[in-house]
Amino acid sequence: MDKAALEESVKAFFPYPGFRPHQLELISFAYRVFKSGRIGLVSSPCGTGKSISVLTAYLMARSEGYAGRLLALTRTKNQLEIYCREIKRVKEYSGLSITAAMFKSKREMCPRVKLDAKLKDVSYHDFLRYCRGLKSGAYRASCQFYENTLLNGWKPTGRARAVVDLIVRRGPLMPNEVYSLCESYGLCPYEVTKLLSSRADLIVGSYNYALLTPIRSSIMAKARLKPLIVDAVFDEAHSLPRYAIDILSDELSTRSMRMAEDEARNYGVKGFEVLRLLARKVVGEGRKALSRVKLDEEALISRDKLTSWIIRKAKLKDLDDLLEQLSFLEDEGERIRHVKVEEGKAPTSYLARCASFLADWIRATPPAYVHYVKAVEGVNGETYWKLGLKCLDSSSATS
Ligand code: SF4
Repeated sequence: MDKAALEESVKAFFPYPGFRPHQLELISFAYRVFKSGRIGLVSSPCGTGKSISVLTAYLMARSEGYAGRLLALTRTKNQLEIYCREIKRVKEYSGLSITAAMFKSKREMCPRVKLDAKLKDVSYHDFLRYCRGLKSGAYRASCQFYENTLLNGWKPTGRARAVVDLIVRRGPLMPNEVYSLCESYGLCPYEVTKLLSSRADLIVGSYNYALLTPIRSSIMAKARLKPLIVDAVFDEAHSLPRYAIDILSDELSTRSMRMAEDEARNYGVKGFEVLRLLARKVVGEGRKALSRVKLDEEALISRDKLTSWIIRKAKLKDLDDLLEQLSFLEDEGERIRHVKVEEGKAPTSYLARCASFLADWIRATPPAYVHYVKAVEGVNGETYWKLGLKCLDSSSATS
């Protein structure tokens, strides 16, 4: 395509009066990438209009029948909102019929958080477990927003279908607009956005929608996306390996282990010996490590030695026996969460968190992962300890 034809084609979608330096080249490059179905890398400073360039290129390729549906994945909320604003601008400018589903985190999209202050302070993991419990009917109370959205957990209600139609007609809407609309109809904005995604040309979300298997599978299934025919854009892709490593790495403090023990004792759980032993061992290993490394520095430890020690001391048969014990404790932790919800307390469970952390810690194997302990200083100058798991291979997120 020569420059004049390219500009003509770009102007059908590009909503600004002029181009920034090299922006037309960028659009042309991205257009060729979409058209050829290959992988393209663009490196360009902040503020050079990458998002709108990529969207324009995508729409050009799509108008010629070359591109499928687009999955735009961003690292930060700010970047996500840039995509949302730009796609709105394109629609206002071009009058193009385009449907977009824009996902923020589930907690940000949950209207119950506004109604129940306790949900703001619980960990994200606890929030997800709580939401899952409400949806599955595990608690006496259910989630009215969810029930107004889906019948029997899968069939969209008439109200939900009507709101999805409204969003398609009026959209693209910003995530906060979808939130307000759903809230006013008593619907769950997250579930409505999932329903919307099956009709969306463009789906915008965080990297987690590609990197975390349960989220990826759930969204791909709901949006009816097939990996080989979807076009994907990773915004700020240079941060992808670091991001993947961070979400696959984790730490657990001896404070959480003690709280899990207290919780188990208070709620009548038998057989939490492994957690007591774990806390003891982590403190011992952490103290030894302090002779080699400084505060806040990781000291590698052997996964096999730590697990063998716990198995021996807890008089378990083998590793499978230990994992079974942890699975039991995780279930007990969920039971405690239920009891706490019935008692009107925050839906947290240290026991479930510790048991699932330790099971993941044991299952993660070298060379993709290393295991460590470290000493940390608390706010009052006291020392406590952390057991950690660090992923060294970001490609593990795609397996
Ligand atoms: S189903 Fe929706 S509204 Fe209900 S708790 Fe979960 S995210 Fe919140």
